[in-house]
Amino acid sequence: MRVGLLFVAAVGVMTLTVHAQAPAPVTPENLVKAAKRAAGAEYAGTFLRICVAPDNLDGGAGRGAAPPAARSVPDRALWYARPYKVFDNLYFVGTKIHSSWALTTTDGIVLIDTLFDYAIEPEIVEGLTTLGLDPGSIKYVLISHAHGDHDQGAALLQSRYRARIVMGAPDWEATLQRPASAPGGVPKRDMVVGPEGTKITLGGTTVDVIATPGHTPGTLSYIFPVRDGGRSVVVAYSGGTAFNFPRRAESFAIYRDSQNKMGKAAAAAGATVVMSNHTEFDRAYDRARIAQLPRAPGEKHPYETDAATVKRYFDLGADCAEAQRLSMQ
Ligand SMILES: [Zn+2]
Repeated sequence: MRVGLLFVAAVGVMTLTVHAQAPAPVTPENLVKAAKRAAGAEYAGTFLRICVAPDNLDGGAGRGAAPPAARSVPDRALWYARPYKVFDNLYFVGTKIHSSWALTTTDGIVLIDTLFDYAIEPEIVEGLTTLGLDPGSIKYVLISHAHGDHDQGAALLQSRYRARIVMGAPDWEATLQRPASAPGGVPKRDMVVGPEGTKITLGGTTVDVIATPGHTPGTLSYIFPVRDGGRSVVVAYSGGTAFNFPRRAESFAIYRDSQNKMGKAAAAAGATVVMSNHTEFDRAYDRARIAQLPRAPGEKHPYETDAATVKRYFDLGADCAEAQRLSMQ
């Protein structure tokens, strides 16, 4: 492991640019330091998960690579969250742990991620109803990646409401190999997103769907506008985070490149909000509740940051992945 570090340090052509003064050599240690600075307090959850304690760190043959499965229904008190209106046109219908978002338009709802099967009825179906929204108006279901904590509602929403299911091509392949008895069932193949991405437009609102392979081969991330008191705010939604894939240098390079791609797309779109699909990464449950409180004049929405802070999120992901990749050489 150290041999690779010395080699990289000796070559010395690539340098970290986060320092104002002397550039540091690119080593795993320096990348982790850069990631820690990029994370700050804002993104500590993501930093801890992928830079300090990556799921695949000990790596033996796919350890940690299995998608999370809902083997039994955990105590409701541990996960149930009330639904919340968070932006004018974006509603949180997730759990305390995993996010599901309803983006409302004049022509129906775009639902982003669908939770474990046990949470679909209480959080998504009943949650939307509690908020005065009609689950029957869900037109698109965007699945960030095919792990059970985000996709087990897809089959129900497809069969009950005829919602279109949108997923990355490799994740469709993985999904369709599941047995019919899989929790939540298996959706029928529907809208397949390739590496070039796509745009989903409903009721005048467009979601830019960006292929960001890494967490899974078909992970999708999103950029879309929401409104805060009528003002447009752009969200960059990161569709996959943890390093619970087989530990290979190539996989970390793919992950790193996707973070950089998403960072550029977020900057180009003027994104000032980062969202994720685990509340540990974007504090969605906390922010959803804080968003219910009155704000002082001029006070920002609890989700809103600025372009530089959004960039830090994707820099941190790229740096943590690159640190792991280099440490394997
Ligand atoms: Zn996952």
